[in-house]
Amino acid sequence: MTAIAAPASATELEEYRDRCRSWLARTSIPRAPLPLAERFRVLREWQRTLHAAGWLGIAWSADAGGQGLSHLHQLVFAEELARARAPQPIGLIGLEVVGPSIDRFGTPSQRSELLPRLLSGEDIWCQGFSEPDAGSDLASLRTRAEVDGDDFVVSGQKVWTSWGHLASWCAMLVRTDPTAPKSRGISYLLVDMSSPGITTRPLTQMTGDQEFCEVFLDRVRVPRANLVGEQNGGWAIARHTLGTERAAYTLRRRVEYEVALQDAIHELGACRTRDADPARAYRVRAAVGRSHVALSVLRAQTRKTVDRLAAGTGPVADDSVDKLLLNHVEQQVYGSIAELLGPLRAAPDSRPLGLDATRWAHDRLYSRAASIYGGTSQIQRNIIAERLLGLPRD
Ligand SMILES: Cc1cc2nc3c(=O)[nH]c(=O)nc-3n(C[C@H](O)[C@H](O)[C@H](O)COP(=O)(O)OP(=O)(O)OC[C@H]3O[C@@H](n4cnc5c(N)ncnc54)[C@H](O)[C@@H]3O)c2cc1C
Repeated sequence: MTAIAAPASATELEEYRDRCRSWLARTSIPRAPLPLAERFRVLREWQRTLHAAGWLGIAWSADAGGQGLSHLHQLVFAEELARARAPQPIGLIGLEVVGPSIDRFGTPSQRSELLPRLLSGEDIWCQGFSEPDAGSDLASLRTRAEVDGDDFVVSGQKVWTSWGHLASWCAMLVRTDPTAPKSRGISYLLVDMSSPGITTRPLTQMTGDQEFCEVFLDRVRVPRANLVGEQNGGWAIARHTLGTERAAYTLRRRVEYEVALQDAIHELGACRTRDADPARAYRVRAAVGRSHVALSVLRAQTRKTVDRLAAGTGPVADDSVDKLLLNHVEQQVYGSIAELLGPLRAAPDSRPLGLDATRWAHDRLYSRAASIYGGTSQIQRNIIAERLLGLPRD
């Protein structure tokens, strides 16, 4: 089971940072290609490279295949990865969301059989929580699982399952007691995506990618040994899953936006916009300034998040403030840069003001999803209103 590693000293973390930097400097870092099939292959190979060099599962226990270091070590590596313009490995849902829950709540054989393969990228995982009419109100989910001998028999539908059509395993929430109050009749199952009775249908996002899909389950047999935790006790695990890595995620994403803004400034600088027409130069300064302010606010907000991460405390209602602000900042940074592209944002391979239109238009479109996944902004506002401000329930 995951233990909180001893707090790391500042010197220890700096030494670790130096090791990350020097490894990244001597490593051939792939660029993440935009075409999805190629991206999946390249980033899976990248995951194998990171794993072989000991950079995955940094804060996981050693018997789960991890390094047994602190969450702050993991954050340091994530920061250095972003600064090196290196992509994230493909199995991020497994690494950041599913794996820590199996590590904490799984049986010894689930941990020893599944986690090493999850870390190495041999198995790619998806998360089957959302359903039609059960996204924000997740406890309303209807996919049902009935016990039949040594198996559960699962039928229903999931939606927005990221990488579901390419994944080999799914961490799924299912209803095992339809008579219990909503959140009390739910179980957490590990489902082999190659099981007979599973059909996936990719959905196209507005970026043009097909990163997520619908998953249809028709009498799928799942061994009872694949139940995580207690039968009907899945809600507590789901809450852990949803909250567990949010602090680390926020801090990692913040550095990624900072790096993105530096890249944009570099591209704009190369085009010498200061010497160009003053109205255009003003637009550039305003866009960069707005993004810079948004990032500074996020940095200030997340100061306490680092302490929470180090202490392993969470999930807490303050995470919702971080999530809300994070969404805003992502949309602000990519929105401001994309505005500078003007109509040329639709012209692939063009470079208005020196900016790479293909990259920034894509990232701007993707940023719209930030206020939906992981809990929508409206839901974060409800949490803040009720749990932090003590306002009446929605
Ligand atoms: C890019 C992307 C990847 C995703 N990946 C996954 C994944 O891998 N696995 C997975 O399980 N899910 C995934 N999701 C789904 C995501 O978690 C849900 O979309 C999200 O929880 C919202 O649920 P919904 O889409 O059903 O919206 P709904 O719950 O139907 O909400 C619709 C609108 O109503 C608002 N609303 C709902 N209830 C309230 C309320 N009480 N008060 C105020 N406003 C309210 C919402 O904020 C939203 O604006 C992904 C989504 C995206 C965009």
